[in-house]
Amino acid sequence: MANKKLHVQTVEVECAFCKGTGKDPFELLSTVSSCQVCSGTGHRLVAAPAAKCAYCGGSGVHPHSRMVCMTCRGAGQVNVPEEAVRCPGCGGSGKESDNHYFDSVLPCMVCGGKGVVDAQSEAARKALAPGD
Ligand SMILES: [Zn+2]
Ligand SMILES: [Zn+2]
Ligand SMILES: [Zn+2]
Repeated sequence: MANKKLHVQTVEVECAFCKGTGKDPFELLSTVSSCQVCSGTGHRLVAAPAAKCAYCGGSGVHPHSRMVCMTCRGAGQVNVPEEAVRCPGCGGSGKESDNHYFDSVLPCMVCGGKGVVDAQSEAARKALAPGD
């Protein structure tokens, strides 16, 4: 077997959606229902390197709703590129400034809500390239 890092490194993070309690924070089903994000374990595994989810600010909750954040799936942390640069589409907020859905701002389409993009990606290259 070749000694190469083929499997993805993961980091264990506290489940942001339930703040590590394992309980449904909104008690939608019943007061004893388990957190839908972590199945009641209170933690989640995120592929490394991980950083705070820009879209929900690390709360794991979709802004202005009781839903799980689409970007981090409730973990509050997201896998980011090794060479991450601030997303040129949203300036790092993870939100699409002129793309609203009811009260909620949708995740940035460039970075998917992470607020950062791979430095080698086309979006980053375009943003860094001098305009003509
Ligand atoms: Zn949880
Ligand atoms: Zn999130
Ligand atoms: Zn973005």
